Amino acid sequence: MTTLLWFRQDLRLADNPALAAAVAEHAPAVPAYIHTPAEEGAFAPGGASRWWLHRSLASLDRELRSRGSRLIVRAGGHSLTELVRLARECGATRVVWNRRYEPAAVARDRKIKTELEAAGFETRSFNAALLHEPWTIETQSGTPFQVFTAFWKRCKSLDDPPPPVPAPDRLEAPPAWPDSTGLDELALEPRIDWARGLAGAWSPGSAGARSALDDFLAGACGDYESLRDRPGERGTSRLSPHLHFGEIGPREVWHGARRAALDRGRSRSWRDSAFLTELGWREFAHHLLFHFPRMPEHPLRSRFERFPWQPSEPLLDAWQHGATGYPLVDAGMRQLWRIGWMHNRVRMIAGSFLVKDLLQPWSSGARWFWDTLVDADLANNSLGWQWVAGCGADAAPYFRIFNPTTQATRFDPQGTYVREWIPELGRLPGEWIHQPWAAPPAILSAAGVRLGTSYPHRVKIHEAARAQALAAWSAVKG
Ligand code: FAD
Repeated sequence: MTTLLWFRQDLRLADNPALAAAVAEHAPAVPAYIHTPAEEGAFAPGGASRWWLHRSLASLDRELRSRGSRLIVRAGGHSLTELVRLARECGATRVVWNRRYEPAAVARDRKIKTELEAAGFETRSFNAALLHEPWTIETQSGTPFQVFTAFWKRCKSLDDPPPPVPAPDRLEAPPAWPDSTGLDELALEPRIDWARGLAGAWSPGSAGARSALDDFLAGACGDYESLRDRPGERGTSRLSPHLHFGEIGPREVWHGARRAALDRGRSRSWRDSAFLTELGWREFAHHLLFHFPRMPEHPLRSRFERFPWQPSEPLLDAWQHGATGYPLVDAGMRQLWRIGWMHNRVRMIAGSFLVKDLLQPWSSGARWFWDTLVDADLANNSLGWQWVAGCGADAAPYFRIFNPTTQATRFDPQGTYVREWIPELGRLPGEWIHQPWAAPPAILSAAGVRLGTSYPHRVKIHEAARAQALAAWSAVKG
């Protein structure tokens, strides 16, 4: 019985339950990827995600080929039509896949399952992306969680997720391979070469994912608690794009973190570690997205639907291009543009600056991140932006407004991060690096900084902007 194995955001061979189910049949398996961005609704992959996807699919194909198989790529049509066509071409009677949780994908997959079964195919779907399925975690009254600590406490009270299954040595090939579109025909790569910085920073594919995890567990993981809020240090795992594309799964990360903690003699407290807690936020984001599918476009706290945002193209543009005059915000936005990723602490500060100091709608920030992040993920991005804007579940209250200078001094005390991403400020002494506007003219001149020319003036004065933000908040706080 040939099985059609439908890959989506699970681009790996190890710890892949749909693949394991196909292999368990001891019969041919046909791995396929169907490129249908139009089926993603308003959230087709952005530029940086497409760059990553191209490389991740190429890597998956190489891994399959080294096991006697290959990746069949199809594009242009509808997933359902292509699945039926492919299944008929290769004589498959069964279609298997791992589940996704974005609203458009959930609705589509539900329909596909019904239609495939009506057409006589057997279907099965599995969990490859989460520690726990969103519908299996609920409050005592049977409702979805909306408070993170309670949600994560409940998750941690459950058994460990099953250990990851290794990749199979071989996949049985069908008697004849169906046609495949070349990866280049998907036109995922940028036409203008803006992605050199991405190529220098990342290794898409499951081998890159595994080495990112191994490096992290052997190194920064031990100091995660103290380093994770220091954007100038390499203190976090940088696993987010690998997790988004399913090149590695959270079960493998969980068990890796457990082993690393045991090796360090921290057997008792490892489930409460700060690193696993971040994995918990990822679970929480997916839990929320599944139960509140309007979340990518609507605030969970509905009063924010009437928030008096003041959309402004010039302000949004200054923020997007790292030209607000606030060095830490600008460094973050430039890091994002150059390598498609931004440190979490800086995402919070730059996000807060956009929605509070500049009064731009959180959805404008979410859109920009969607297009520029290699880890753009509908669940995590929506949660992050609603947290920053104070309009989500368990979010930072809107009236708590970050001061970008104080935050910068606290989390980038030596200015290391700012110097890396804004070299034109690199020669400013530490005292002024986060507030060049306050530096004496002689200091600016000695550092080669000409405000308004080599580095922009502030687009808003924080103290005044803060007062404006609080006035806007008072219009909705009810
Ligand atoms: P680590 O600190 O090593 O954490 C390990 C893993 O846990 C991450 O890879 C990620 O999968 C998960 N994680 C960590 N922090 C969070 C968090 N706050 N929420 C959800 N999951 C988390 N993350 C994305 O993956 N995609 C996004 O599109 C995204 N958009 C964001 C937007 C805003 C405004 C904010 C404030 C945060 C956003 N995040 C997003 C969350 C977080 O910034 C990134 O997951 C993190 O910076 C990734 O770096 P890392 O892999 O080194 O994380």
